[in-house]
Amino acid sequence: MAGYTPGEQPQSGGFIKLNTNENAYPPSPAVLSAITRAATDSLRRYPDPIATCFREAAGRRHGVSPDSIMACNGSDDALTILTRATCGAEDLMVAPYPSYPLYKVLAQLQGCRFEARPFTENGALPARFTAGAGITFVPNPNSPTGTFLSPANMLEHAEEATGLFVADEAYADFATDHCIGLVSRCERLVVTRSLSKSGALAGIRFGYIVAHPNVIQELMKVKDSYNCDTVSIAAAVAAMDDAAYYEEITRRIRTTRKRLELSLKELGFAVTPSQANFVWFQSGMTGQSLKRIFLALKERKILIRFFDFPQVGEGLRVTVGTDNEISEFLDALRETL
Ligand SMILES: *Cc1c(COP(=O)(O)O)cnc(C)c1O
Repeated sequence: MAGYTPGEQPQSGGFIKLNTNENAYPPSPAVLSAITRAATDSLRRYPDPIATCFREAAGRRHGVSPDSIMACNGSDDALTILTRATCGAEDLMVAPYPSYPLYKVLAQLQGCRFEARPFTENGALPARFTAGAGITFVPNPNSPTGTFLSPANMLEHAEEATGLFVADEAYADFATDHCIGLVSRCERLVVTRSLSKSGALAGIRFGYIVAHPNVIQELMKVKDSYNCDTVSIAAAVAAMDDAAYYEEITRRIRTTRKRLELSLKELGFAVTPSQANFVWFQSGMTGQSLKRIFLALKERKILIRFFDFPQVGEGLRVTVGTDNEISEFLDALRETL
């Protein structure tokens, strides 16, 4: 098998890094003091295996019971746990196409079947999307396109599913809505969240699952005993409790996103309206080679992401950085045209 290929993480400096959807801004100052405190007081002991204080903090933040929350080592860990818990060799995993390439890799590692089912022309999930699936993953907003399906529509698909239906909400904080409020209405609906993007903590590795307590109880059986460490738990609790800080940086990113979308349209690109912290654009009326643009930007030390999806075609995905970073990106892009 081909393993998962993460986005490039250059270890030499000097790049404007707009390729892996990290936050444009630093985490809350409260996170940094929580990390210092945790590192000073408690590294000698094992962490709380179920991260009780995080479950409480996330419960407060989302208005759900802590029993509905499971802490994970990044949301990729959440996706692994969900796959392990649901898929035997005979089972089928379903995900839309194009979307997050990790799902297929998880299916291969688990030794189960995998099917990528294309979105319809107008970006919806086709009827009977979950047919035959033991587990279905739907990133919402989707990556790399940034498109968004309404929670009501997600619920319809979850209700007709025979297995778990996972809304991968890694980018939900940048969108107009989310599915957490629906978890109590449908036991098959599971939500995964990440602190890597909106939480500005990709370096910490923390994500979580929101699901019916009965589902959480089963998932607990397959996780690593200490899947989250003391320092990351402390950081995640502090991030959950500082909603005001995160609302402000998210608001800024949405404003920059709007400007970025408009500028790309003015240049003649076909821009997909985004509800995430990145924008997906295709060559549109420019007739430009996107691979060439990608390489020309890289030469100018600006890193974005090039994808070529069979059937869908080529596209570029650019993370919404700070206003300055996006201005520099747009200037460099104009020079390459
Ligand atoms: C980034 C991303 C994740 C993984 O997030 P981590 O919490 O860093 O593991 C999961 N799903 C999607 C769609 C993503 O883009």
